[in-house]
Amino acid sequence: MAATVHGFQTQVTKLLDLLANSLYSNKEVFLRELISNASDAIDKLHFMSLTNQDLIKDDPNFKIQIRADKDAKTLTITDNGIGMTLDEANSHLGTIAESGTEAFMKNLTGDAKRDSQLIGQFGVGFYSAFIVASKVTVLSRSVNAAEDAGVRWESDGNGTFESENVAVPFRGTQIILHIKDDETEFLDTWKLRECITKYSDHISTPVELYEEKYEKPEEGDDKKEPEKKFEYTQVNDAKALWTRTPKDVTEQEYNEFYKHLSHDYQDPITYAHNKVEGDLEYTSLLYVPSKAPWDLYNRENEHGLKLYVQRVFIMDKAEAFLPNYLRFIKGLVDTNALPLNVSRELLQETAVTRKLKKALTKRVLSMLDKLSKDTEKYEKFYAQFGNVLKEGPVEDYDNKEAILKLLRFASTNNNSAVPSVSFDEYISRMKEGQDKIYYLTADSYETAVNSPYLETLKKKGVEVLLMSERVDEWLMGNVNEFAGKEFVSANSQDLKLGSLADEEDKKKEEAAKEENKDLIERFKKALGDKVSDVVVSTRLIDSPSCVISGTNQMMTMQMRRLLEAAGQPVPEDKFTLELNPEHKLVKKAYAEMDEAVFAKWATLIYNQALLADQGAIKDPSAFVKAMNELLLD
Ligand code: ADP
Ligand code: MG
Repeated sequence: MAATVHGFQTQVTKLLDLLANSLYSNKEVFLRELISNASDAIDKLHFMSLTNQDLIKDDPNFKIQIRADKDAKTLTITDNGIGMTLDEANSHLGTIAESGTEAFMKNLTGDAKRDSQLIGQFGVGFYSAFIVASKVTVLSRSVNAAEDAGVRWESDGNGTFESENVAVPFRGTQIILHIKDDETEFLDTWKLRECITKYSDHISTPVELYEEKYEKPEEGDDKKEPEKKFEYTQVNDAKALWTRTPKDVTEQEYNEFYKHLSHDYQDPITYAHNKVEGDLEYTSLLYVPSKAPWDLYNRENEHGLKLYVQRVFIMDKAEAFLPNYLRFIKGLVDTNALPLNVSRELLQETAVTRKLKKALTKRVLSMLDKLSKDTEKYEKFYAQFGNVLKEGPVEDYDNKEAILKLLRFASTNNNSAVPSVSFDEYISRMKEGQDKIYYLTADSYETAVNSPYLETLKKKGVEVLLMSERVDEWLMGNVNEFAGKEFVSANSQDLKLGSLADEEDKKKEEAAKEENKDLIERFKKALGDKVSDVVVSTRLIDSPSCVISGTNQMMTMQMRRLLEAAGQPVPEDKFTLELNPEHKLVKKAYAEMDEAVFAKWATLIYNQALLADQGAIKDPSAFVKAMNELLLD
């Protein structure tokens, strides 16, 4: 049977072109990628062999072997893992399925120079072989295939590959790299040893390098040229990294292990490695990535920890060990408390899983708390994952307080849209006599910071947290307090100022009500059932008016917009209009004796308030027309 020629998926071709043309700054990573794939393939077969020892009886010792041939200019990486069938080779080595690579493709600008820099930040898995090879040959035999149903796959990376069924005498996969003329340093065993140690020391399978055997020359025999002998020697210590004592593992080792584990190509922001003994024995190694995956908010997003039982890899993306709001955490858990043949379904149901979930959640929260002490790092983390964390207080009632502690918001205390103020920090600055946490949700930071609702609080020197993420409205609708301090929205009619509202204020308020009775009556008459009420404001200083959600106090306008956007029915809402009788515009309106003209003023003032709060009014052209009439008067 002749080999069939296939075209690579378009994205792969693009990627390979880039690889060929880019000055890849970190060429040696190809070895990490290929060893990582070999190790994954061995993990998969190891797992299958737990229930079927026969699968590996011909070749029971898992290993990865690396051999350079200087004469043939080839570098060969061989594993005795699960192998690939012809179909698998065609699809896995011809397309891009992995999310990191997809994100990479999305980030491409089309500018060759910039794109080739980008490539250094992402990884390209198997295709990185073409960084150093002008041709790649893959020989593979799937664990389930007969000897003559092996696969040969070959490509020079120029748009196509060919593949066919051939006899392959061994189980697993062999990748033969035909090294480019200017990359021959990768044929030197010292260089290979250095790369393996640097990137792949943590691999729990032995990695063996074909090296010259050192033989001690015999005494007095030093004139005779010794015969060169080669053999495979193990380079890594093949001890699963998480089984080592944390203080003996370097940051570099943790970071490399993260990249292998998560298929990410950047260092994590932080990690936590814990070994727990006692009732429930387990080891966990948890990482916070530095970048959110592109599908973080996608419901189908696959996430979860790697599960090992007694150091044997059992499954990937086991979701049951962490709550949904911590779905960005990468890592693994290894325990003796679960059976080797545990299934995904069984996992969901066992008490061990529930206990582990509880413990691991606490670990992550305390890791984040620790991270929050480093303001710069935490800001980076928060920009990526802050909004996911906000799902936490509602999802995980038991840890509500600990999660709220981790949230950050913009504030009237700072001149910055960057969310950096915690509830604790807010409380530490509270005014004497203040016992509420004031916040305001709005469409954007700008709207929030310029909102008329802030005026009274500002005057009193009370700080207000400014929230402008979509999820904030929902969050604040679902939590009542932090550290015993009630949350109060700056746009509620009753600001619950307590002792902050001094006696004088109250007297003024009463007096203002009395004084402006007539004003209020005229506005009520003019606006009729457009509004649910008209009241004198005690909080406005620079603005003539503002509106408060009337009939449905629970539903703020942000929320209405969210519902509307989601196509949900939203009950018709009426607003209470708050007037600032000291404002020139209100005074001018009041001075108008013609009730028909006054009605125009009233409508204008009401619509202004709506516009400022909602960013929209029902009939903008009527508004503009009325305004122009009044301006020309
Ligand atoms: P990733 O490892 O992130 O999935 P790669 O580009 O590194 O992406 O590899 C693509 C796929 O090719 C792997 O997921 C696997 O299915 C297959 N593959 C690569 N190398 C091997 C190997 N040595 N043995 C078996 N399958 C492999
Ligand atoms: Mg890979």
